[in-house]
Amino acid sequence: MFKPVNSRVNFPEMEAPILAGWKQGDIFRRSVAAREGGERFVLYEGPPTANGSPGIHHVLARVFKDVIPRYKVMKGYYAPRIGGWDTHGLPVELEVEKQLGFSGKTQIEQYGIAEFNAKCRESVFGYLKEWNELTERIGYWVDMEHPYVTMDNSYIESVWWVIKQIWDRGLVYQGYKVAPHCPRCGTSLSSHEVAQGYKEDTEDPSVYIKFLVKDKGKADLPADKPVYLLAWTTTPWTLPGNTALAVAPDAEYDLLEGDKEYLVMASRLVGAVGPEGYKSVGKLTGKDLVGVSYEPLFNPHQFDVPRLRFEEGGSLAEQPSQQDLKYKVISGDFVTLDDGTGIVHIAPAFGEVDHEAGKQWGLDFVQQVDLQGNITGSYPFAGKFVKDADEDIMADLKSRGLLFRSETIKHTYPFCWRCETPLLYYAKQTWYVKTTALKDRLIAGNEQINWYPEHIKHGRFGDWLANNIDWAFSRERYWGTPLPVWRCEKCGATDCVGGLDELRNKAGFSGLPEPLDLHRPYVDELTFSCEKCKGTMRRVPEVIDAWFDSGAMPVAQSHYPFENETLLTDGRFPADFICEAIDQTRGWFYSLHAVSTLLFDRPCFENVICLGHIQDAKGEKMSKRKGNVVWPNEVIAKYGADALRWYLYTASAPGNPRQFDEKQLADTSRRFLGTLWNVYSFFVMYANIDEYKPPETFAPPEAELDRWILSELNQLIADVDACLDAYNPTEAGRKIESFVDGLSNWYVRRSRRRFWKSENDADKLSAYNTLYRCLVTLAGLLAPFTPYLAEELYQNLVRQVSPGAPESVHLTDFPVADAGLIDNQLAEDNRLAMKLCSLGRAARSQAGIKVRQPLGEIYIGVASEREKRALERVTPLVLEELNVKELFSDSVEKVTGQEGPGFVVVAEAGSSLAIATYLTAELEAEGMAREIVHRIQNMRRAAGYEIADHIRAYYEADAFIVQSLSSFADYVMQETLAVEMCEGIPDDADLKDSFKISGYTVGLGVKKAV
Ligand SMILES: [Zn+2]
Ligand SMILES: [Zn+2]
Repeated sequence: MFKPVNSRVNFPEMEAPILAGWKQGDIFRRSVAAREGGERFVLYEGPPTANGSPGIHHVLARVFKDVIPRYKVMKGYYAPRIGGWDTHGLPVELEVEKQLGFSGKTQIEQYGIAEFNAKCRESVFGYLKEWNELTERIGYWVDMEHPYVTMDNSYIESVWWVIKQIWDRGLVYQGYKVAPHCPRCGTSLSSHEVAQGYKEDTEDPSVYIKFLVKDKGKADLPADKPVYLLAWTTTPWTLPGNTALAVAPDAEYDLLEGDKEYLVMASRLVGAVGPEGYKSVGKLTGKDLVGVSYEPLFNPHQFDVPRLRFEEGGSLAEQPSQQDLKYKVISGDFVTLDDGTGIVHIAPAFGEVDHEAGKQWGLDFVQQVDLQGNITGSYPFAGKFVKDADEDIMADLKSRGLLFRSETIKHTYPFCWRCETPLLYYAKQTWYVKTTALKDRLIAGNEQINWYPEHIKHGRFGDWLANNIDWAFSRERYWGTPLPVWRCEKCGATDCVGGLDELRNKAGFSGLPEPLDLHRPYVDELTFSCEKCKGTMRRVPEVIDAWFDSGAMPVAQSHYPFENETLLTDGRFPADFICEAIDQTRGWFYSLHAVSTLLFDRPCFENVICLGHIQDAKGEKMSKRKGNVVWPNEVIAKYGADALRWYLYTASAPGNPRQFDEKQLADTSRRFLGTLWNVYSFFVMYANIDEYKPPETFAPPEAELDRWILSELNQLIADVDACLDAYNPTEAGRKIESFVDGLSNWYVRRSRRRFWKSENDADKLSAYNTLYRCLVTLAGLLAPFTPYLAEELYQNLVRQVSPGAPESVHLTDFPVADAGLIDNQLAEDNRLAMKLCSLGRAARSQAGIKVRQPLGEIYIGVASEREKRALERVTPLVLEELNVKELFSDSVEKVTGQEGPGFVVVAEAGSSLAIATYLTAELEAEGMAREIVHRIQNMRRAAGYEIADHIRAYYEADAFIVQSLSSFADYVMQETLAVEMCEGIPDDADLKDSFKISGYTVGLGVKKAV
C-alpha cells in the first residue's frame, strides 16, 4: 500500500518533513560521497556577502547553480560543492560606517582602525543565519559548513602569493594617473566598479565660458575689441584647475563679432550654439590658434593653491608665484566637433585626456580639490563639495562677464556603486595590475569558455576584454586584503611578500601579531630591513580591491600553494561550471578570468550560465525605497521552494531579463505542480483500492495508449538529458511541463475508465504499470529541479513498496531513455489525433453544442497521404474523444467547402474539420442520458461516497427523460456504479436534488448500496 495522498496539497507543508529527512539522513553529503572515484564535476561558488538579507536575485543564482551539479551527481560525477563568503571591501565598510554614523575616513581614523576593522569582521556575518537557512530551504546543496572565507588568514596568504607571482613578472606598478575616485569613500575604483554605477539622466550644468585672449601669437585676430575663446564644460568645478585650451588643428574656426567683443569657436558648431547678435567676420584654422595665450579664469597664486608643472618623464615640479599668468592654446587630436564649441577646456588634475595632454605639452597642473572632493585654497567657494561649488563658480564668472551662457543638461554620469556619490576623475597615485599586457591572452582564453547565452561571449564579455585597461586594484581603505608591498623609508626600494614564511625569513623582521591577524592595522606594524640600505621597510598603506579576492578563489579557497599542492592537477581546477548574473561580466566573471590568465595563462571556468537581471512584475528595478522588493522567505512560505524554483527555471530563458510576478508564479505552480500532484493522488487512490503492487520488471504493454505515453516518456528522458547536458534547464523544464500536461489531459483522462473497471484484468494492470513508470521516472527527472516533490513521489511510490531501494531520490541515478520504447509513428499519430480533437472541440464550442451531446457525423480533411493513413489509424480515438458516431475523411478543400447551414467548419494549417449539427431523437436521448450521468456523479461526490462505493439511483422526470433513461439504463448504471435505477425518490435517499436540463425538469436521488 502507498501512503494515502490528499488530492489537496499544501506544498510548504509537504516540504517541511522532507527537508528534515535530508538533514537527518545527511543526504547531501552522502549524495556527494557516493560518487567518489567518479569523474570530477567542479562548481565554483561566486561568494556573496552576508552582511544583508539575501534577496530574490540571490535565490535566482543559487537555484541555477544547484540544478546542474545535482544532475551531474545523478549522472555519476563526483561533485563536492564548496560554499564561500565574500567578506572584504567597501560594501562591508560602508555598512559599518552607517552603523557608527560616520561620514568619512577622518572619523574612522579617530575611532581607530583596529576597532573599525573589528566591527567589520563582526558585521560580515550579521545575516549568516538567514543566509544559511534560506540556502537550505531552497534546496541549494552546497557545503556551508566548510566554506571559504576571504578574510581568513589562509585566504589572505594565498592572495598575497598570487600578487607576488604577478609582481615578479613586473605586472604590478604604481602610477600617477587620473582615476575614478569616490570622494565619500576616499578611494579610487576600478573600471569594473565604475561600470556598475552609471546613472542615466543625471542633471549637470552645461556652461559656455569666455577666456580672454592676452597674446594673439601668430593668429590674425583684431585688436579693436577684446577677443574671447569660447569653451564648454559640464563640470564648472574643474575650471579653477584649467591650464590650457585645446583646438582641433585642422578644423575651421569662426571669428564672430558682437557689440563689445569678438568670440572664437568652431565654424561647424556656430549653428548649434547659435550666439545671437554676433556675425562671422573671419575664418581661422585650429593650427592658427595654437600658441595664442589667454588669461586664466582663476590665478591659483591668488587663492593659495600651488601651481605645479609637468616635467620631462611626467613628474611635477612646483612653480614660483606669478601674477600675470598666461596659459596657451594647444592642439589636440581628441578635440571633436560633435558638441561644445570645438575649444576644449583642459584641467590636467581631473581628466584622463587632460592629464595626458599635460604630460605631452608640459602644462601647468593645478589641483584645487582634496580627496574628499572639497575645494581647497582661499577661493570664495573654498571648503565646499565640488558639485555644490558649481553654482558659486558660475556666479563668480558671471559677475566678471566671463559666463557666456549657462544651461543644464541630462547625461550619463558615473556614481560610486556602493554609496552613490558622484565620482570625480582625479589625478593621484594608484597601484595597478598591468592587465593590458595580457589583453590578447584574455581574449584568447575567452574563446575556450562556453557562455550560456552564447552572445555574452563576444558581446558583453568580449567587448569588455577588448577594451581592457589596467586594473586599478589598490584602495585607500581599511577592511581588505592588505597590499603586500613594503617600501624602504630611506631609499624607497619596494618589495612584495608572497607568504608568511617569506615574511618571517626577512632580515630584521619584527614578528607577527598573536593571535595572527593579517589585516590592518596589525600588518602595518610588520617591518624588516631593506636589502639595499638596511633602512626600515614599511608596508604601503593600501588594501586591495575585494574583487581581486574573489577572483583569486580558485586557488585561495584551498590555501594553495601552501596546502593542496596537487590542486591544479587533481581535477579541482578549472571549474566545469559557474553561474551568476550578467553584471558579473564586469565583476566576478572578469576578476576570475583576469587572475587565472595572469597566473596560469588559461581560463578557470569552462561553462557559465549568465543570468539576466530580475525586476518586479512591472519591469521596474526592485528597491526598498519603492517597496517592491520580493522577499524570498515570504514567497516560499506561501508557495513552497519547489514552486519558486520551477518558476525561476521555466518562466524565461536564463540570459533574459526577467520580471518577478507572483501571479505568474502561482499560476505556474497550479498548472504544473498542481497537475502533477493530481495525477499522483489519482494514481495512489486507485492503486490502493486495487491493492496494486509494482512488478519487479515491466512487460512491454499492449494497449496503444500505454505504448504511446511510454514512448513520450522515453523521448522526454532523452530530451531532458540532452538539455541539461547543454546547460539549458529552462528548455528541459518546459519539456517536462508539456509531458505532464499530456500525461494528465490525454493519458490519464483517456485511461480513467480503465482504472474504474471492477475486475483486475490485464488491461487495468497495464494502465497501473504504465502510470507508475511515468510517475517514478518523473521523480528522477525532476530531482534536480524540484527536489522536494521528486522526493515525495519517490518515497511513496518506490521506498514505500521496496524498502531496499536507495534512501533518497537524490541518491539514485538519472533516468536512462529506452530507445526501444520510442515509437515515432505512434507519437505522430497521437499528435494528429490531439490536434484534430482540439479542432473538433473548437467546432462544437462555435456551434454551442456540449461534448456530452453525441453528434452524427464529422468530416475531416488532412493535407498529406501520410496524415490520411494516420487519420485512419486514429479514427476510433477521434470519434470517442469528440463523441461523434461517424467520421468521413476527405480533402481539406472539400471539407472547408461544407461551410453553411447544418455545418460548422474550423480549419488550421493543413487540416480542416466540419461537424454536422443536426440531432436525431436518438442522439438527443443519448445526450440526455449523459447529462444525467454527469449530475449523478456530482451527487456522489457531494454525498461523500468513496470512488468504489456502489449506489442506488432514483429519478422523477418528464416522459422524454424517463424514456431516455430506460433506453440507456445500462450505460447510466455502469457509469455511476448504480446497482439499480428506479422511478420515484424515497424519503430515505442520502441526497436529493432537482435540475433543469435543456428545458426538461428532472429530480434525482442517490443512496449508498449496502
Ligand atoms: Zn563611495
Ligand atoms: Zn633602502
